Amino acid sequence: MKILTESQRKRYSRQILSPSIGEEGQEKLSKIRVLQIGAGGLGSPFALYLVAAGIKELTILDNDTLSLSNLQRQILYKESQIGIEKVLAAKESLATLNSEVEINTYNEYVDENSVVKYIENKDFIVDCSDNFKTKFLVNEVAVNYGIKAVIAGIKDFFGQIITIDPKKTACYECVFNKPGSLNSSEGPLPVIGVTPGILGTLEALEVIKTTLNLPNLENKLLVVNLLNLSFDTIDLVRSEKCFCSK
Ligand SMILES: [Zn+2]
Repeated sequence: MKILTESQRKRYSRQILSPSIGEEGQEKLSKIRVLQIGAGGLGSPFALYLVAAGIKELTILDNDTLSLSNLQRQILYKESQIGIEKVLAAKESLATLNSEVEINTYNEYVDENSVVKYIENKDFIVDCSDNFKTKFLVNEVAVNYGIKAVIAGIKDFFGQIITIDPKKTACYECVFNKPGSLNSSEGPLPVIGVTPGILGTLEALEVIKTTLNLPNLENKLLVVNLLNLSFDTIDLVRSEKCFCSK
């Protein structure tokens, strides 16, 4: 039975041509639901590429308002949207890009209570936040609810990214020590806009490749250095001492 419509076949024709995707792969993509935490520098390219690629549903959580200093890296937004809620601005941009994808957005502070409200029926939870507290939270929710996750972090010209299949592969906490105090604010970090552009794009790529059972970053940490243009993968092993092994 053919699931794709004629218009979908046309829209996604170039990726359907890929031997790694095909119509079967496109059908798989058209069924996935993703929960995105954060709609900033990482979240902009992440949402744009996933919605363009034709997933079923994208739900975005963020509680920020768009400001002038965001535009240097948050490519989802325009000057005319300064002062409005990022989730509203994001919904506007994404809906006009691909009206076939269901976009749900919530202007809510990201904490355990808000994240778990939207976790039901999701195939992925993806961290596009700018702080460690949220990355550890996304990891915990992913492990506790058995949902695949992608977590990336950036600073200046540098980034890291990992994909997690809970209870099967190394989680974020297997790799990074949870700091004692996660509440201390570091203040604004230096960022060149291209860095979240690349890492957020890689997060979208990981969701797509994981859905299609293509090689991904499970049990691997990709460390990106955009100053010397090195992309190094470090092999990971799930820690028996970590909460994800219990
Ligand atoms: Zn772990």
